[in-house]
Amino acid sequence: MGTPPLASGVCAGGGSVGWIWMNSCTLGSPVLPISFLFWLFLVTPGAWAAGYETCPTVKPGMLNVHLLPHTHDDVGWLKTVDQYYYGILNDIQHASVQYILDSVISSLLEDPTRRFIYVEMAFFSRWWKEQTNATKDTVRELVRQGRLEFVNGGWVMNDEAATHYGAIVDQMTLGLRFLQDTFGDNGRPRVAWHIDPFGHSREQASLFAQMGFDGFFLGRIDYQDKVVRQKKRKMEEVWRASASLKPPAADLFTGVLPNNYNPPKDLCWDVLCADKPMVEDPKSPEFNAVTLVNYFLKLAFSQQQYYRTNHTVMTMGSDFQYENANMWFKNMDKLIRLVNEQQQANGSRVHVLYSTPTCYLWELNKANLTWSVKEDDFFPYADGPHMFWTGYFSSRPALKRYERLSYNFLQVCNQLEAQAGLAANLGPYGTGDSAPLNEAMAVLQHHDAVTGTARQNVADDYARQLAAGWGPCEVLVSNALSQLSYYKQNFSFCRELNISICPVSQESEHFQITIYNPLGRKVKHMVRLPVGEGIFFVKDPDGKAVPNNVVMLPSSSGKEDQWELLFSASVPALGFSIYTVDKVSVQNNLQAISRKHRSHARSRVLTIENEYIRATFDSSTGLLMKIENMEQKLSLPVSQGFFWYNASTGDKKSPQASGAYIFRPSRLKPLPVSRWAKIHLVKTDLVQEVYQNFSAWCSQVIRLYPGQRHLELEWTVGPIPVEEYWGKEVISRFDTPMKTNGEFYTDSNGREILKRRRDHRPTWKLSQTEPVAGNYYPVSTRIYITDGHMQLTVVTDRSQGGSSLKDGSLELMFLLEFLKACTRFLNASSSLFPGRSSQVHRRLMVDDERGVAEPLMESEAGSTVRGRHLVLLSSVSDAAARHRLLAEEVVLAPQVVLAQAGSSLYYSWAAPRMQVRDGELDRKAEPRTQFSGLRRELPPQVHLLTLARWGPKTMLLRLEHQFAVTEDSGRNLSSPVTLNLQNLFQTFTITHLQETTLAANQPLSTASRLKWLTNTGEDLAGILPVTGS
Ligand SMILES: [Zn+2]
Repeated sequence: MGTPPLASGVCAGGGSVGWIWMNSCTLGSPVLPISFLFWLFLVTPGAWAAGYETCPTVKPGMLNVHLLPHTHDDVGWLKTVDQYYYGILNDIQHASVQYILDSVISSLLEDPTRRFIYVEMAFFSRWWKEQTNATKDTVRELVRQGRLEFVNGGWVMNDEAATHYGAIVDQMTLGLRFLQDTFGDNGRPRVAWHIDPFGHSREQASLFAQMGFDGFFLGRIDYQDKVVRQKKRKMEEVWRASASLKPPAADLFTGVLPNNYNPPKDLCWDVLCADKPMVEDPKSPEFNAVTLVNYFLKLAFSQQQYYRTNHTVMTMGSDFQYENANMWFKNMDKLIRLVNEQQQANGSRVHVLYSTPTCYLWELNKANLTWSVKEDDFFPYADGPHMFWTGYFSSRPALKRYERLSYNFLQVCNQLEAQAGLAANLGPYGTGDSAPLNEAMAVLQHHDAVTGTARQNVADDYARQLAAGWGPCEVLVSNALSQLSYYKQNFSFCRELNISICPVSQESEHFQITIYNPLGRKVKHMVRLPVGEGIFFVKDPDGKAVPNNVVMLPSSSGKEDQWELLFSASVPALGFSIYTVDKVSVQNNLQAISRKHRSHARSRVLTIENEYIRATFDSSTGLLMKIENMEQKLSLPVSQGFFWYNASTGDKKSPQASGAYIFRPSRLKPLPVSRWAKIHLVKTDLVQEVYQNFSAWCSQVIRLYPGQRHLELEWTVGPIPVEEYWGKEVISRFDTPMKTNGEFYTDSNGREILKRRRDHRPTWKLSQTEPVAGNYYPVSTRIYITDGHMQLTVVTDRSQGGSSLKDGSLELMFLLEFLKACTRFLNASSSLFPGRSSQVHRRLMVDDERGVAEPLMESEAGSTVRGRHLVLLSSVSDAAARHRLLAEEVVLAPQVVLAQAGSSLYYSWAAPRMQVRDGELDRKAEPRTQFSGLRRELPPQVHLLTLARWGPKTMLLRLEHQFAVTEDSGRNLSSPVTLNLQNLFQTFTITHLQETTLAANQPLSTASRLKWLTNTGEDLAGILPVTGS
């Protein structure tokens, strides 16, 4: 332990968003001095260029063609992760990652000039574990020499539309940590490489910049955008990826690759391709070397005209290629020799070389040009006039929710592991472990996982991986809660609470509820539990009675009455409260309440309201007609209902059908599910609800709790009946008279907000060919419209697609489902892969012919989907304060754990004794019914993004300023904030802090990035101010 710089502070915001982070250590018993690392994500740019020394030499004055040998290995798509790794079910898709890596390594060893890049650590780490020490040494040497280079280096190549930034950071951290631990700095990627994701978010670029990447290469951008960029030679630019971080903190040099990520036509030398190998023998009837070389030279020059330097790249590889790496390398060896020796002797000015994206980037940097700046994003992505990849924003809504819920639980698991010490891993409930859920969540970020674009059996396997990860985390959480409370309870996690199933609460007369709050501030949480009919007595952590209600859910025909117990719980920051419930009577009088309110519904309008919000319904249609914010005296007519687009199966204009990737409605106007809803009103002291039944497959509850500033809309959709050839894509739409000038706003991965304008792209003149699908954008957590005075915001509980297709209107899509008969289910075994050239890979398959090869049907359990939209009406000045804090509470909601009564006291050998005063231990700790891991709440600006154990005595802490610059004028929440970390945490003491880059693979003090000159002249501006206290 050294002299601890105990207090550190972070100042973010104002400037914007800033995250801190730290590594710390865990507790022993008694508290031992603990060393901490402390990580801050801002990166200082610099001219230092470590990592580039191993790059090949180029020929100045010539056109240098960098061949980039690579393979693109999806972490699940048509096959599961394991099937891809081992090469199982090659009749579905020929793909075997283990052999790819074997083959590449031996080919690299044959010639020191050969190079290869690898991307996905989910596969590489698995392969690595199987290698002998000798092979490992060989591979380390290849890495050291730059012949095998890692790019991106995340666990997966994550999607950018349906992902939350917290999960992106986690998955990158997992992959980059593996590389750092295995190869040290030699293995640290300098370049981010997202060649396949279907559109690119600005937040992703910002995160990469903050992780210390020097550059970013993309494969897919809109086809119109690409033409304009080629013409203007703007295929490479500096992406200014944050409106809040001061340049160049979130600046990232970004290049669009010439041919997505595929090799040039006729130059695919893989077993999966049918192109001709180079034949050099002039006597052979197959002699083609001269033709191919001439073709290559022409290609190089035609490609170069779209780029600004005398360097250009060719991506030599594609999906799951290089299983026989020799084929590729042997032909490229010949090409390089013929072009460089023979052609240069003939006066050619082309030099071709084995290279990597990093070495190409290094040449661009050395060119010392001034680059233009991009500030918007690359959504939506279209690869043709009727081919907007906006369907996957909403595909598989059940999986998307499960992923978000798992993010929430993983943070709870990580936090409790950090707070409870080693006893969380080994305790009265067995062996607890956060790693399996961490890995499963990383896999889910893959661009065919959370996107919903994988096949059904693969989607099932993703869900299986998540479920398998939850188990060891549940053990960990149980151990940790016992450790921190000194109670051993008979815990039950009730994973089906969202559909009102929980045997403990439904069958027990007495039970306990432990509610854990992963936020840095206390929360009030309305607990809702399915119970049997009866009257209940609820006690808070101090044993005081808590008001509660039992409400009857409207019974669907043939089902038994369902009852739910409601009470409001208060839970401290980063801690828990234990409530107890006793059933005191089996009688209930709620039938009367229900009847009373049914009669209420007969008046012309009906309202629900609390102290802040009033929602008015037209009782003749049953629809919402007005929302009022009474605190701010705002009133807005809002009509909300459900509609559906008829999914196109192709038409005269284009055979393009709607599917897992592509959204394409056959008509512009959606049809209403119903023009009216049968309604049912419930009003008790603790809740006011309007139940709306639109159809047999579509219903909603609009709800208000006391003290809430938002209106909650809980929708249930499915199973959707689909007439023959009529796929339905269902939306919830809010219509208001607001004048919004064609503008609306969506979040970028849950973090910063981007303005959208209908039928418009900020950087080129759009020719709009799909007025609905072409205006859809990803909504990770929120979408809003504003008239400059007030703002209507909808916060979602999962990623969805959303838009505003007319002024004052806002819509969110949640379900794509197709009749089995309507999509042509190809048996992929026959003609899919053999003999095809890689360029058409994804087009050969079914439904929308973007590859998934089967209609999009969620599994049986997923055919009915339930979720929540939280609606805020507020003044513009107050809106950010409301939606930031609300979205934070949705993403990191309290974890509710039940237990049948009968807990016993529990003291483990490792039980931490809280420090009552500095250095003095509370050795007579009483069992606790309430606990906070923080000694002081965090201010509203500061979001605790990560608290996780990093090593035996270190922890990783990420704190971020969650408000964008100038976003909040009302309470000044955009201004910088200073935080004192000294004695902040209850169960451990920080003795040492070290700041790192965002993915924690580099100390900030040694981090530097390449500098790029931009045409805005702000390149040398300082970084965000960071203050200590
Ligand atoms: Zn892919």
